[in-house]
Amino acid sequence: MEVLRTIKEVRDFKRANRDAPLVLVPTMGALHEGHTSLMKIGKALKGKMIVSIYVNPLQFGPDEDLDNYPRQQKEDIEICRSEGVAAIFLPDDEVMYPGERFTAVRVGSLQDHLCGAGRPGHFDGVTTVVAKLFNIIEPTHAVFGLKDFQQYMIIKKMVKDLDFPIEIIGGDIIREAGGLAMSSRNKYLSPEERERALNINRALTYIMERAADGKSNADTLISDAIAKYLSGIKIDYFDIYDSKNLKPVPRDLPPKGGLVAAGAFFVGSTRLIDNTLFTIR
Ligand code: AMP
Repeated sequence: MEVLRTIKEVRDFKRANRDAPLVLVPTMGALHEGHTSLMKIGKALKGKMIVSIYVNPLQFGPDEDLDNYPRQQKEDIEICRSEGVAAIFLPDDEVMYPGERFTAVRVGSLQDHLCGAGRPGHFDGVTTVVAKLFNIIEPTHAVFGLKDFQQYMIIKKMVKDLDFPIEIIGGDIIREAGGLAMSSRNKYLSPEERERALNINRALTYIMERAADGKSNADTLISDAIAKYLSGIKIDYFDIYDSKNLKPVPRDLPPKGGLVAAGAFFVGSTRLIDNTLFTIR
């Protein structure tokens, strides 16, 4: 496995592997089974796989956890090696953002709700770094987790709008026993907080099951789920959205069409996101 730190090293790697499909799995490191599940999807495509690990300062707000974000480069390199990754791209800020920056990718209305509403500039930071990674690496495929459903939708739209010749593949949410969605930020949780965080998935499952039973007013579903499961958890946002345009759905849920119940929650000071996709029968 090659460890690439500069753009020139990536270009040399590309030149030496010109004919194979190249699958990119972009990450911020502190790798867990959510990440390795994306690598397994990449591996099934039978090309070469490249994993990028970069904690992108552009997508963090001034009061967010950029400085404390978990970093474990040595362990991450070993995890990638054991997953059959051909190369890791490990750039630093000097490689990604040398000098003054004049250009960014700006996201449109898909960022109006969910995480975009409370994290201004976050998705512009994500699309800008992902567009740079796409231009540096020129993958044929890129795999993103549905855990960050809004990010997945925004990247798919960016690829279409800006004509990147890259196929975007979504990977299912991987959960710990008990249902907590795996996240690098789970490392921040105390044992008691981790226990409390299990209620997030319980609330989402409750909504999905009640909706399937024909209980179909969005406000009632959300307020019942909060009352039943989320009293000890601070809610950043929590609602039911149209899974195509990420706008809140009409309160009397439509009988057809994809829906996503999604939320961001503070358990102690740790912000966790989760979602579940469903339809009403
Ligand atoms: P991150 O390192 O948190 O930026 O995540 C890198 C990629 O892994 C993103 O596409 C995430 O959506 C994906 N990912 C993170 N956690 C999970 C999970 N629990 N299940 C599936 N994909 C995940």
